[in-house]
Amino acid sequence: MALLNRSDWYDIARDTNWTPKYVTEEELFPKEMSDCFDVPREKWETYDEPYKTSYREYVKVQREKDAGAYSVKAALGRMKFLDSADPGWKSILKLHYGGIALQEYAAGMAEATMARFGRAPGMRNMATFGLLDETRHGQIQLYFPHEYVSKDRQFDWAHKAMHSNDWAAIATRHAFADIMSGRDATSVALMLTFAFETAFTNMQFLGLAADAAEVGDVTFSNLISSIQTDEARHAQIGTPALKILIENGHKEKAQKLVDIAFWRNWRLFAVVTGPSMDYYTPLAKREKSFKEFMVEWIVGQFERNILDIGLDVPWYWDTFLEDLNTTHHGMHLGVWYWRPTVWWDPAAGASPDERDWLEEKYPGWNDTYGKCWDVIIDNIKNGREDLTLPETLPIVCNMNHLPIVGVPGKKWDVRDHYLDYKGRRYHFGSKVDRWVFEQDPDRYAGHQGLIDRFLAGKIQPANLEGALKYMGLQPEDCGKDAHDYAWVWNYNKPDKVAV
Ligand code: MN
Ligand code: MN
Repeated sequence: MALLNRSDWYDIARDTNWTPKYVTEEELFPKEMSDCFDVPREKWETYDEPYKTSYREYVKVQREKDAGAYSVKAALGRMKFLDSADPGWKSILKLHYGGIALQEYAAGMAEATMARFGRAPGMRNMATFGLLDETRHGQIQLYFPHEYVSKDRQFDWAHKAMHSNDWAAIATRHAFADIMSGRDATSVALMLTFAFETAFTNMQFLGLAADAAEVGDVTFSNLISSIQTDEARHAQIGTPALKILIENGHKEKAQKLVDIAFWRNWRLFAVVTGPSMDYYTPLAKREKSFKEFMVEWIVGQFERNILDIGLDVPWYWDTFLEDLNTTHHGMHLGVWYWRPTVWWDPAAGASPDERDWLEEKYPGWNDTYGKCWDVIIDNIKNGREDLTLPETLPIVCNMNHLPIVGVPGKKWDVRDHYLDYKGRRYHFGSKVDRWVFEQDPDRYAGHQGLIDRFLAGKIQPANLEGALKYMGLQPEDCGKDAHDYAWVWNYNKPDKVAV
């Protein structure tokens, strides 16, 4: 049987915009689910997806990808990589799987929204493949950590975390629900595929893959690079959508959605990827600093993408660039200090050699964040671990649900950017988080962060013990210093004495 080339049939086969007879156009594609911009159907028909594939081709390639990732895992499974892995690296795996695996399923639902309610046939077609991609990412990232559960129960949080009230889960759900499940298909195309996938997934799935290869975690490196090849494809759903919106006079509103999504993702990556790259990855194996990866992938590539399409860089770009030097150090300090509240063991990453590296990558680190670590080091050395552990909870931001952090030392600048709305005071970690809230206050108002729940009496007993229980953490789950303070004793070497 003669087969046509894909280019001969693709356009007509995927053009499924028929005229409905039994329902109205609005009933078939309600604005709230499809397109809050309300661009006419015929304009959407100019949507031209840059990546075209058929189902047959898709299945063939995906089958090969899965066979590759699973066979590397099977071949290397017996090498007991985990037994010899640095505890800091294990923590990266636990953080990654718990924070990401189930969000991949949620991303599948977002793709499904575009597959059903997207106004452009090409968008629906690509999103159908995107839905299959995200299903694969969810499944494979639950399957891989599963074999570790019998060795280390923190790996059980790959499946558990997103079903819990752990603060990190609340922060992750709040941010992703805002760009994935709580928006119409067109907004999802902008906020998830353009703002998140063309920018940030590179950080976690390519940057971290480079570190994984250095560490010798071939299985993980292979797995996440394989995932990124899917992201790189379905991330392209947003660009042609943005083009149509800009052509039809909606630049301002589209810009706003991109700006909101970018900021929300940035804050999340500052707490997930920042500490992983600059503190948890063993020093000798670090490919680049978090900031260097961010400058390469975000400042370099994403900024160019934004400008190419005809948008501007977000209005807060200068704040963001400045944040690259600071935010994730504060987040790391907070996560390490509140370590019983997480399902992984934070690596301090503050031994003398690591501090030299941090000072080189972030000049001034010793005079700011280093001052806090000096106190922690003294306390551990004096047998006062109790002073390095939390007794209560921090103030968290009502937008990103992460602790409100500032620069310690002489530059101490912590500030609560608050806002009173309908009789309630909301606290924000930055002016940008507050700006996000102000764009659509009723969308966010009413949500209770962990501290709001604590103050409302929903967490009992009202102390750290009650909070840990509320977050679903059993004593054996609670994070502790990844290296059992071994790094502190490096300060006894004669050439490096702690002050
Ligand atoms: Mn994915
Ligand atoms: Mn994706």
